[in-house]
Formats: sequence, structure tokens, C-alpha cells
Amino acid sequence: MEILERIPIHLNPEEIGEKLLVNKTGNWDDFQSIFEIAETLISAKAAYEVRYVDEKLKDAVIIDGVRFVSRVMRKNLDKVGRVFPYVVTIGAGLEDRCKATDDLLEQYYLDTIGNIALVKARKYLDHELRSRFAFESLSFMSPGSLADWPIEEQKQLFLLFEGVERSIGVRLNDSCLMIPRKSVSGIFFPTEVTFYNCQLCPRDNCVGRKAGYNENLAREYGINVWT
Ligand code: SF4
Repeated sequence: MEILERIPIHLNPEEIGEKLLVNKTGNWDDFQSIFEIAETLISAKAAYEVRYVDEKLKDAVIIDGVRFVSRVMRKNLDKVGRVFPYVVTIGAGLEDRCKATDDLLEQYYLDTIGNIALVKARKYLDHELRSRFAFESLSFMSPGSLADWPIEEQKQLFLLFEGVERSIGVRLNDSCLMIPRKSVSGIFFPTEVTFYNCQLCPRDNCVGRKAGYNENLAREYGINVWT
């Protein structure tokens, strides 16, 4: 298992403040002091593995002996032999601070700053993998982001990460959620065209959407159950 310790996270308070509509909903000085505290509580780390696809079944793939059931993954890995399972976290500092305050606005600010930091940490890992392994383009899938690859498959994914709790402090609880909550996991794989889960997800008004819903693509993947 490869570990990236102390991932540098550069956050821009003006950008985040704008996103949070601080000028309309809050006080800039309050936000600035919460932001400064938040920065000190972020401790971003990542673990990743280099693994190989053993077998490609009809609606599943076997990666180093672990079976993942997902039609979308099966299609995404059609021409792929090597994959990079990963776990990224920003640690428990921010969520502990969130629990310690009753101020809903502060909780909202901390939560949003944490989400932005987590996305940046995963991007850092993405760049690291591209440069270490000379990939032009990488995509990722995460258990629980599509009905096709449910959250329960976290258990399978974590089978590939023996000792990850000891290394970067992330574990799964009984509901297959990662602790600390500000963690993400999944599988990076090389692609010619970037794949986004969002292309297959019809959810309306999602602030996290990275690409438009593509009904034709969803049909191609055989998961178009909404029409
Ligand atoms: S649209 Fe939102 S819910 Fe759907 S996959 Fe993208 S980020 Fe997740």
C-alpha cells in the first residue's frame, strides 16, 4: 500500500466565501476566523494500491481475488488491466470541531470547507498517479455513488486495504460508512475519455454535479431504469 502523508491543500477563502454567500447570509469576519481555524484542522492523507483485474464476468470484475459487482465498472474496465483503489481523508479534526459547536452556520461553513478540501485531496492523488504512472487521463468510481455500485461494496474495496486504519486512520463502520466521515474511497482507472458517475445519475439540483446526465450513455451502460 502506498501512502501519501501531509497532502498540501490550498484553500482560497474568497472563493469559498463566495460559494457560501457569506456576504448575504453571514458576517465576513466570522467566516474568516472559522476559515482560519478550519485550515489548521485539516490533515489530508491518501492510501492507494496498484492492483490487477483477474477476471471480467458479465456484470462483475474480480480484482486481485476480490469480486466487485457493478455493470458500470465492468464496462469501464473492459480494456483495463491495472487499477488503483484508493482511500483519501482529511482526518477527523473538522468534524470533531463541528460536533463541538451548536452554531448551525459554523457547522455549515466547516462542513463545506471540509468537502472542498476533500475534493482537492483526491485531485492531488489523481495528479500524483498521472505523473507517477504516465497516464494522460484517469477516471474514478466510488461505491455508493450509483445504485449500480452500492455502498455495501465498500466492504469489498476495503479488503484490498489491509492496515489502512493504522496507516491513515480510516475505517468502515457497520453501515459501510467511512470514519472519519470526511473521507472518500474508490477505484481510479485509466481512460481515454473521462468518465463521471454524474453522467449516469439523473438526480436534480445536485450541487456536486460534475457532468450532465446523459440518458444515451446510461442506456449504453444498461442502467437506464428511469424511463
Ligand atoms: S449528480 Fe450528484 S448525486 Fe449524482 S453522481 Fe453526481 S455528485 Fe453524485
